[in-house]
Amino acid sequence: MRKKILAGNWKMNTNISDGLQLFLEVKSAWSQTQSHGMLCIIAPPSTHLAQFSASPELGLHTAGQNCSEHEAGAFTGETSAAMLKSVKADYVILGHSERRALYGEDNTLLKRKVDTAFRHDLIPIYCCGELEHEREAGMQNEVVKRQLEEALFHLNASDFGKVVVAYEPVWAIGTGKTATPVEAQEIHSFIRSRIEDRYNKIVAMNTSILYGGSCNPNNADDLFAKKDVDGGLIGGASLNASDFMQIANSLSKCI
Ligand code: PEP
Repeated sequence: MRKKILAGNWKMNTNISDGLQLFLEVKSAWSQTQSHGMLCIIAPPSTHLAQFSASPELGLHTAGQNCSEHEAGAFTGETSAAMLKSVKADYVILGHSERRALYGEDNTLLKRKVDTAFRHDLIPIYCCGELEHEREAGMQNEVVKRQLEEALFHLNASDFGKVVVAYEPVWAIGTGKTATPVEAQEIHSFIRSRIEDRYNKIVAMNTSILYGGSCNPNNADDLFAKKDVDGGLIGGASLNASDFMQIANSLSKCI
């Protein structure tokens, strides 16, 4: 079901005491916000999850930043979907551009991770987006289409209906460059139409499509005002409770 969603990807930042303090600040601010059905999803380092108690009844959830495609076994350094579930994560980010670029994750592997996540009742927040040279060559739609087709479009409509899609142009992540609201709307609308082609209009209209890439309190209003932008996946600005909550406030104005 399509919802306004603000997700924070903390990446490999914060130790447990700083992280807990930040989480509690966000939780306290969120619980005082009229959330109107909005969701807030925090993806801290996996070491923190067991100590972060979410409040699903207030729309506050936690997420893993990645999971293994394997169930269990001799995979040193990996975290399984079952482990994330056991510390009450409801979501898992898959396909983040840093995983694709630094750890060689491709669509074939991500398809397996998506399936593993579903087996453990974790909802994927599936990231897609083009590199700078792909945008310069006008290939962004083609790249994103392939990322959706190869890792997500094998799902049946009922499972796909649970997925959150995050469009994250790689050239905008952590760079201070942002897609303009018009650019974001164009590609979000393109993503929604591809979902309609593969499934149907109802599934497409019910999919939450988030924007990620240097979203901050100064640009959030304009990005979220676009009709196919259902929220944000926020990196840097999610590490500051006040900035993150200002972004939440921008999103709440769109309800
Ligand atoms: C991200 O890592 O998903 C992200 C969007 O980062 P930032 O907001 O820092 O660009």
